[in-house]
Amino acid sequence: MADVEQVLQPLQQLMRDTRRLAPREGSLDEPTKVWTEQERFQDQVADALVIILKTRGCTWALQGGCTFCGYVNDSMVRKVSVENFLAQMRLALGQSWKGQPVVKIYTSGSFLDDTEVPREAQAGVLALLPEGVRKATIEAQTHHATRDKLAAVRGALRPEVELEVAFGVESAHAPVLAWSVNKDDRFPDFIAACGHARGLGIKTKAYIMLKPPFLTEREALDDAVATALLCAPHCNLLSINPCNVQNRTLVERMFRRGLYRSPWLWSVAEALTRISAGTHTPVRSNPVGAGQQRGAHNCGTCDGHVADAIEQFSLSRDPSLLPGAQCACREEWLDILELEGFLQGAQP
Ligand code: SF4
Ligand SMILES: [Zn+2]
Repeated sequence: MADVEQVLQPLQQLMRDTRRLAPREGSLDEPTKVWTEQERFQDQVADALVIILKTRGCTWALQGGCTFCGYVNDSMVRKVSVENFLAQMRLALGQSWKGQPVVKIYTSGSFLDDTEVPREAQAGVLALLPEGVRKATIEAQTHHATRDKLAAVRGALRPEVELEVAFGVESAHAPVLAWSVNKDDRFPDFIAACGHARGLGIKTKAYIMLKPPFLTEREALDDAVATALLCAPHCNLLSINPCNVQNRTLVERMFRRGLYRSPWLWSVAEALTRISAGTHTPVRSNPVGAGQQRGAHNCGTCDGHVADAIEQFSLSRDPSLLPGAQCACREEWLDILELEGFLQGAQP
């Protein structure tokens, strides 16, 4: 444990130095962002309204936070009241809800963290969802998802509305969480949170990080696949999130120095292939910035095709849509999987 502490303290300090956070100007009564996207709901493709609420920021990020996460750059770094939260929600629904059956409410942090979203606001925001909404999704850190908090948010919704809680698991493996992700949740927290949720009829989704820093492409792929298969018995949906380079993060500092490459889209496709062969729990991926240097990418020629195939697979869950070997860069990716660790070990 002493080793973990020795690594964590400098990582936390490095993250604080990288972020340089200060209170932000701007209205607290307007959400950060609102848009509509598509997702699979009850075996069909449905519209989902996504609302990013403005908050003070993720508590963990305000202390340093995860090495890849730049969400706190959108946060206010000052108190947001219950009334502010309700005003943001009313505005978002009034302007943008056109009957979408799914509404996703994100905070760029943890919805069930009382210091970020007061309990009254947690229930109040969900209670504002209009009739016609059939599913609500929120995100929370696993150690905030206690039975009583989950029961309170479940109780704020009409009984016919399905509730899904998404958890950023990232990795099931403590060394990766401690030394690569720098996260304050642990895998047993996820198992406990899923147990509480199941008992209350709440569905759960696991976000799994593909390629946090300091891992080779193969280590990252193996870690994501193993994590997904460990999560699968406990949750209803698996989501593979390829790491993208976000502003003012440790990953960005490494990227600028040529020390970090986002995962190959081939790795995303391979992870989805292996996971869907190993479990009946559905798996999806929606790579942010696919094809760009800061997002999961291949050679530049085949990126659009492979990213489209990943999107089609995620909506249809048909593994036959995942890409085969259509581009020569797949050979390069296979060489990297085989040789990257040796090449690093061979450097003076
Ligand atoms: S990944 Fe989640 S817990 Fe980590 S810093 Fe970002 S919002 Fe906070
Ligand atoms: Zn290619």
